[in-house]
Amino acid sequence: MRYGETGFNLEIDLSQGSIDRVETDPKLTELFLGGQGTADKILWDRVPAEVEPFSPENVLIFSSGLLVGTPVPGANRTIVNTFSSQTNLHAHSLLGGYFGAELKHAGYDKIVISGRSSELVYLWINNDKVEIRDASHLRGMGCQETAEQIKRDLKSEKIQVAAIGPAGENRVNMASIDHSHSSAARGVGSIMGDKRLKAIAIRGTKDLNIARPTELFEMCQNLRKSIAENPYVGDWMATDEDDSFHHNNFSWGNARVRRRDFWSKELEERWRNLKYKYMNRQTSCYNCPKVCHNVISFPGKPTFSYKCYGKDTYHMAAFQELDFSYEILGISQEYGLDSYSTPQVIAFALELYEAGILKDHDFPGMPVNVRERFFYLLEKIVHREGIGDILANGVSLAARQIGNGAEAYDHNTIKRFEQLPIKLGRLNPVYFLMLATGEKMAITQIEGSFPQDPLPTIEQRKEFVNGWVSVPDEKFKKYFMEWEKRDTISNEASCAICDWNEAMHYLDDATGICGFLSSFRGGQFGGRSAYHIHNMPPLISFATGIKMDETLLWEVFQRNRTLVRALNVRRGMRRIDEKPPEDHWAIRDHDYEQKLLDDYYEFKGWNKDGIPTKETLDKLGLDYVSEDFLQKGILKDNEAASAGKEKKA
Ligand code: SF4
Repeated sequence: MRYGETGFNLEIDLSQGSIDRVETDPKLTELFLGGQGTADKILWDRVPAEVEPFSPENVLIFSSGLLVGTPVPGANRTIVNTFSSQTNLHAHSLLGGYFGAELKHAGYDKIVISGRSSELVYLWINNDKVEIRDASHLRGMGCQETAEQIKRDLKSEKIQVAAIGPAGENRVNMASIDHSHSSAARGVGSIMGDKRLKAIAIRGTKDLNIARPTELFEMCQNLRKSIAENPYVGDWMATDEDDSFHHNNFSWGNARVRRRDFWSKELEERWRNLKYKYMNRQTSCYNCPKVCHNVISFPGKPTFSYKCYGKDTYHMAAFQELDFSYEILGISQEYGLDSYSTPQVIAFALELYEAGILKDHDFPGMPVNVRERFFYLLEKIVHREGIGDILANGVSLAARQIGNGAEAYDHNTIKRFEQLPIKLGRLNPVYFLMLATGEKMAITQIEGSFPQDPLPTIEQRKEFVNGWVSVPDEKFKKYFMEWEKRDTISNEASCAICDWNEAMHYLDDATGICGFLSSFRGGQFGGRSAYHIHNMPPLISFATGIKMDETLLWEVFQRNRTLVRALNVRRGMRRIDEKPPEDHWAIRDHDYEQKLLDDYYEFKGWNKDGIPTKETLDKLGLDYVSEDFLQKGILKDNEAASAGKEKKA
């Protein structure tokens, strides 16, 4: 019997129209845990490097995290992985809400989608009965509109739906997949659109087996209480009314202008009134005591929900106030557009216009008012009309297609993907490493376990480390106690901190635990996370029966993280691609940064080009990767994990 997981994946080939329920190998669960971990193994096995993202051979995987559907509070993430049409590299995204739990209760851990349908279809999973259905009547519909229509068609309000909007149907690179206003961003919607899969609808009513239910329930009861009472966890930045952090520190427009004195008490009051005037409720995800999502109904616009910085991206890109985000977010979410990348793409286009690189004839009929211009460009992008057809590829690719100096305006992407618009003065070495080498596409999927900045006094630091439960090793407390200035921290500490930051995200994305309770709250913003390396092993053991301790769990992280790197290396990613934007920090030191990168590669057991060595791969049980790399000449026999050094033969 399988515990915690169902032990079955649903395999859908849309070219063949085939549906298979396939038993999975329990050994793979022990090695990768589930969620993103086992999804990446499927990507390794089935999608060779030469397969284009927009190809029937690309695979789109929806994974329910290993602990999703069990009593573990806040374990509800659905992890979506594929190869990105924007970056041509590994794509990683997450859905909150109820989708993953419904999938588990329908009897599946994953939906693995390959092929491409000749017509627009949707998938209807009703426990054991699975159908590929005609979706022609859903063409052009928004994400929520699609979900509502499917529920009406199937005559049940209990169905959970994940859908793409017109942006996904038109293969816009910024297209997301939406479920209950929680969208899987980072372009995964374009791949779903390429497969002509409009939506997935699920109803699941089966039970899930738990290995040691009494112990798990007892632990979860305590966790639930402590999460509810813990002010440091949850997406409190979405619900907090003081939003000075984003507005004073993040950049406006096309990620260039910082307005340090923007926030004021008067503004806060005005925005508070606006929020309560239009917020009709606050909601949670499956089995979580926190209430993070504000549901906003702005007159004449589709209802939407926002989290964290997502409520600010549009109005900051347009140099407007919150009411502009309220006007545009509902439409943008219905279109199925990522609200992090899309505003930057629009601001980039308007900068090119102001600079004379794009001309009047590129924007026929464009209004004068900036708010209306955003709506105008949104339509062009979603429908890939005129200049919108180029902009729909994202800033980096669009800049190269436009040429004529447009490349200089692409200043906030890494590996072709738009980053959070943050421009700072002094380099933070840990952030340099995370931005340069992280492969989860967004810094919010990499950071969180260690504070972003030092605290000014010893007393403050002491107070902070005293209750810092999540640290995996006492050395992190020492690093923090000794940290005086942002840019002054040893390379040794930077490497270890970067690794720990990544570790918790990889573990969350294997187990399905929400980052707002774990990785994203481990050290920054208070440092009192609900989940950490110390309490995850018993939860995993009680739920699944898998023998787990901290050492084994850390190994799972290393294996999962290394496999993602291998997937990207196999597709051509190298050291030259590992660089944050030139203007991310005002003061740069090329030699220092390259030495830091050397040290990190060595720390990780990667060679001087950022490729995991044979020794590293074999140690993690990824010998099939090292064999492939040796065969393809990506690795040589005698390469060692060090900065330019080679083992003597
Ligand atoms: S902390 Fe918030 S975002 Fe995370 S699972 Fe709970 S309700 Fe959802």
